[in-house]
Amino acid sequence: MARHADLHCHSRRSDGTLEPAEVVRRAKKAGVGLLVLTDHDSVSGFAEARDEAARQGISFACGIEINTGEADGIHVLGYGIDPDSAVLAERLDVFRARRQSRVGRIVERLNALGIGLTIAEVRGESTETLGRPHVADALRRKGVVKDRGEAFKRFLSHDADAYVPPMGPTVAEAVAAIKAAGGWTSLAHPGTVKKDVDLGPWVEQGLDGIEACYRAHTGPQTQRFLEAAKRYGLLVTGGSDFHGPNTGRETLGGVELPDDQYSRIHDRLRIVR
Ligand code: AMP
Ligand code: ZN
Ligand code: FE
Ligand code: FE
Repeated sequence: MARHADLHCHSRRSDGTLEPAEVVRRAKKAGVGLLVLTDHDSVSGFAEARDEAARQGISFACGIEINTGEADGIHVLGYGIDPDSAVLAERLDVFRARRQSRVGRIVERLNALGIGLTIAEVRGESTETLGRPHVADALRRKGVVKDRGEAFKRFLSHDADAYVPPMGPTVAEAVAAIKAAGGWTSLAHPGTVKKDVDLGPWVEQGLDGIEACYRAHTGPQTQRFLEAAKRYGLLVTGGSDFHGPNTGRETLGGVELPDDQYSRIHDRLRIVR
């Protein structure tokens, strides 16, 4: 059972390239038995994905990923949340508005570099949450880059020419937003964060888990984070971080969670069917 769960993926409601229902259909084809959609700063894909999961006969739960402003790649996953929470909706509105400001500043920088791009061209790429991947897609459509990877490397990542630091909430604020919706939290893809993360303060601020099992983690990294989970008493989550075709993150499922870890989280996921 554990190996058939994928607790981390994205749709067009944030920076994925497929509609929520299509993500579910591909999950079914990939042999995933339990899917959690974790769009960035949005739960708007929940109802569509839930209904398709019912048609496809796979289990489904609501999730979210909140990108913090603490540093690039410090993202907080939320599970077991009520998608109708008014407090969460109000917080997410604020986080998405800050993303729009950031994208505006990135576009200004690109224009200063002589690359003509408008915020409208970037917004055309997304249906809900804007981010750097949408800038990358707009650059690709213009023929400036061949894919998202090149756009990040040349313009968007830390140290690149059009980089603007993230403007998201702190980890504590992200954790609070998720808890206000009745949920619990997991630190996303810790192995992809440049500097070594000190979990202690975040655990004190209410962090509940860590995504030790992640597609891009090496075996030793997974081991290291499983040990950290034990040391701090954290739950363990895992997922693919699928984003869809043309994103560089194109495989659903296939990330195994140890059975004992899976049984600790299963009942906390608020599986809707
Ligand atoms: P943002 O939320 O605007 O800071 O953009 C971060 C998001 O961009 C991450 O959540 C990933 O989905 C995506 N991303 C980061 N680096 C890359 C890359 N090199 N290639 C493709 N997507 C990336
Ligand atoms: Zn993403
Ligand atoms: Fe992430
Ligand atoms: Fe993600």
